[in-house]
Amino acid sequence: MPVEPRRNLVRRLRPFAETIFAEMSALAVAHDAINLGQGFPDTDGPAAMLDAARAAIADGHNQYPPGIGVPELRQAISEQQSRDYGLSYDPDTEVLVTVGATEAIAGSVLGLVEPGREVIMIEPYYDSYAATVALAGAVRRTVPLVSDTRPDGGAGFRLDLDALRAAFGPDTAAILVNTPHNPTGTALTDDELAEIARLCVEHDVVAIADEVYEHLLFGGLTHRPLATFDGMRERTLRISSAAKTFNVTGWKVGWVCGPPELVAAARGAKQYLSYVGSGPFQPAVALALRTEAAWVRSMAGDLEQAQVALSAALADAGFGVHHTDGTYFVLADPRPLGYHDGAAMCRGLPAQIGVAAVPVSAFTDHPHWDHLVRFAFSKRPEVIAEAARRLRSL
Ligand code: PMP
Ligand code: GLN
Repeated sequence: MPVEPRRNLVRRLRPFAETIFAEMSALAVAHDAINLGQGFPDTDGPAAMLDAARAAIADGHNQYPPGIGVPELRQAISEQQSRDYGLSYDPDTEVLVTVGATEAIAGSVLGLVEPGREVIMIEPYYDSYAATVALAGAVRRTVPLVSDTRPDGGAGFRLDLDALRAAFGPDTAAILVNTPHNPTGTALTDDELAEIARLCVEHDVVAIADEVYEHLLFGGLTHRPLATFDGMRERTLRISSAAKTFNVTGWKVGWVCGPPELVAAARGAKQYLSYVGSGPFQPAVALALRTEAAWVRSMAGDLEQAQVALSAALADAGFGVHHTDGTYFVLADPRPLGYHDGAAMCRGLPAQIGVAAVPVSAFTDHPHWDHLVRFAFSKRPEVIAEAARRLRSL
């Protein structure tokens, strides 16, 4: 008999009974479809990093590491922030290693936000944000991305700054800012980030900056962390992860950096979520952070080519295609093909043409997003080419 996932689940988690990624990946497997739904790469990370993880296991690094993470990884994270952005974090008090960015987000929200207080997030939002805020007994307050025309005439998004200003108030405990952004692929501009920073300072609000796609930007764009804006170093928890930087989504090595009192709060919750994780992977990620910057640049270049190829294929198949600044994702509008409900389309697509995608409705509260569909292009060229062939049959 099928299990009813909501039956025994606590009420505050019932709206989030099963993640869209689990649902669509299961459909992809059932129909042997190309999985452009859940965002993960289909090639491995740098060979030296993989060798280092194997060596760590062989050398017996298989017991609990320190709760805050192994010293060499905290040191390597600190060096990378300094090298790439001029941000200086003390590896002993300002860096915390987590079980992926997911736990960094959960630890930050659970450790910092009292029940009943508000957390602002940009809509669409990464699915774990809403569930985590619900787990904390806090209230989510969304600020929308709105349609915008790019200089090249393409369809893109910008942050609704009036709605952003209106969202800040006496109940605001924190703002979750994700840039480059999942699921739209939009990178917030410096002006948008500066306005977020100004409001955080004015209202004395903590920013939780999810920057897991920091290295995956296209068209010559570069990432500027929210923590580098005026007044933000002391009020930002900056989150990233090895998953998207080194093609190891299964390793679950993430981190959070910030001032000691904020990191200590995140750690206060994190220590009872997992205590610690990913023992033998931590030294391997440290090595990669120190030595694999060229590999990351080359991987991001390949990803940009995959984005160009998949976006062209979607346009060719008749979708309206949005502009992507970075990440793994492109949003497509299937209405020109006669589909008005993205969720229904995604449930049918694996059986229909052997391709899986995810509906943007899984990341939103408001129905005007419901037609849009997210495709992941983090795949090898031959896989994108085959997906393109299948999409043309729509
Ligand atoms: N934040 C965003 C925006 C994501 O897309 C993801 C998925 N990679 C995560 C957090 C979770 O990252 P991790 O797999 O490291 O837990
Ligand atoms: N971050 C990935 C995505 O957005 C998947 C994460 C997950 O499966 N929870 O597709």
